[in-house]
Amino acid sequence: TGETIAFIGLGNMGGPMAANLRAAGHPVRGFDLVAEACEAAAQAGVVIAASAAEAVVGASIVITMLPAGRHVIAVWSELVTVVAPGALLIDCSTIDVDSARKAHALAAAQGHASLDAPVSGGIGGAKAGTLTFMVGGAADSFARGEAILARMGRNIFHCGDAGAGQVAKICNNMILGISMIGVSEAFVLGEKLGLSRQALFDVASVSSGQCWSLTTYCPVPGPVPASPANNDYKPGFAAALMLKDLRLAQEAANSAGVSTPLGAEAAQLYSLFAGLGSAGEDFSAIIKMLRGHSEK
Ligand code: NAD
Repeated sequence: TGETIAFIGLGNMGGPMAANLRAAGHPVRGFDLVAEACEAAAQAGVVIAASAAEAVVGASIVITMLPAGRHVIAVWSELVTVVAPGALLIDCSTIDVDSARKAHALAAAQGHASLDAPVSGGIGGAKAGTLTFMVGGAADSFARGEAILARMGRNIFHCGDAGAGQVAKICNNMILGISMIGVSEAFVLGEKLGLSRQALFDVASVSSGQCWSLTTYCPVPGPVPASPANNDYKPGFAAALMLKDLRLAQEAANSAGVSTPLGAEAAQLYSLFAGLGSAGEDFSAIIKMLRGHSEK
């Protein structure tokens, strides 16, 4: 496609994503508040603008990759009045569902198409161009944006209307947070009762306890050599990011009047874990806290 792209938010994720668009041959104009982020993107061929408003001049697609909902609303509120008619706005940040829907409404009010397109796959996936995109928005907007997202990712899912991408992301990660705690509790219990880690793994990995937290990301060293447990619990997926997503899930549950008791408990436990100074550890390291809580 001959799209010209504006990319706002060139941080850990946005920087390499913009670099992949550039490498695919698209003209990319970018902006970030942090000078080092701009410099790194410039090295990859991104033309750095003096502001977000300046970055979108001539752009047919505008992508944002920002920390939270308030940043997205602030940037989109400004940009929807200055982007070219017919431009497609895509937010790839992980943000609360209400803000995501509000961003779509801001775009629609100015006649622009828009998508929420949060990702999973982390910094490694952003660099390798293998992210998974979970996308919400109108079918024709998705059809238009899909080819561009495919320059940065491998699996692109159209999940439904405005906000559906964010909903899919927080629901998936709520399963993940809960299942990691469940698997960790089982290993702690097995250990205390004298069961070897390998024996528990061998049984559960082919039985009804089977899940990704066990078979791909096992929280004890040994059974799955590539899991962070074998690498001193270096992330991987940091506990701070898991906590962010669990909190977003709770916000959405409260806002929708839905009861998610295990999701709420998982958010509490990850909050406790992050508060112990472990926010930067891989989220599977929560097993250390659970073990510590047990009677010696
Ligand atoms: P980051 O903090 O490295 O990057 C965010 C960038 O946005 C920063 O460089 C910041 O300066 C910039 N920014 C903030 N306000 C701005 C504004 N008004 N104008 C221009 N730039 C602005 O964060 P990240 O790790 O790149 O994450 C971005 C988003 O992706 C977050 O929503 C995060 O939850 C999500 N995410 C991150 C990961 C991960 O592994 N890091 C994985 C999946 C999803």
